[in-house]
Amino acid sequence: MARPMTESHRRFLQIMMTSGIIELSKAKSLIRHCCDDQSAHAQLDEFIDVINAQLQPMFMQIRKGMSEDDGRQYYALVNMAETDVTRMSSDYADNELELFRKTMDLIVDSENGSASSTDILNCADSLQTKKMKKKEVEHVLNRLVQDKWLNEKQGDYTMSTRCIIEMEQYIRNVYQDLVKPCYMCHSLAFQCQMCENPECGIKVHLPCVARYFKSHIDPQCPACKEYWPHEIPVLRSESASQTAQPRENATPTPSGSHSRRQRKR
Ligand SMILES: [Zn+2]
Ligand SMILES: [Zn+2]
Repeated sequence: MARPMTESHRRFLQIMMTSGIIELSKAKSLIRHCCDDQSAHAQLDEFIDVINAQLQPMFMQIRKGMSEDDGRQYYALVNMAETDVTRMSSDYADNELELFRKTMDLIVDSENGSASSTDILNCADSLQTKKMKKKEVEHVLNRLVQDKWLNEKQGDYTMSTRCIIEMEQYIRNVYQDLVKPCYMCHSLAFQCQMCENPECGIKVHLPCVARYFKSHIDPQCPACKEYWPHEIPVLRSESASQTAQPRENATPTPSGSHSRRQRKR
């Protein structure tokens, strides 16, 4: 039998509905703020389970996931009913959704989990639904960043944490074996490094690489123990206490999928 939501649960849910995604430490402080009862915020996961039990009949769920940028944990409010980008159709026109799908194609096909604005602009010429001008493309990309579907850094676009948490099933269905989970945390990996042993080929998120090699000095693949030829990234959020330095002679190439087989549509 599901436990009833209190005023605190309702307030927390309202904030989740407005922001879509919140960082773990913010969630903790929110619960402290929402809960008058000091014991109620002791267990964040339990607190969220109570809300999730109430959300289930509406095919909604609050889910946890990791940011590929800084390795921090986030909670996102996920619509479980839609298994496609059509979940965004109330906010985006058909050609805008097509542009978003094409951007995801570029990101999945890339070596480093990102798509350049130039490549996205180029594929806007081949939109089937309705062509877009350069200005329109830029406007849509800005909105996708604002709505937390994409991240942008110096003209390169990556999938946001919200996008990966919320679109996980869609991405697995569409891209199948073109996408791989991270060997360390088992979430889908885009901004990652890949083992170069063809027998192995595991992928590991950049923050997961940073954490793993903090306690493993030998540059060996965690799965097959072959030489790990990539530069070990430094976690920004933990960089103050970071001791592991990039190795000399390491090739700074976060590698992606070698295979570019036909994806299922
Ligand atoms: Zn990982
Ligand atoms: Zn390996």
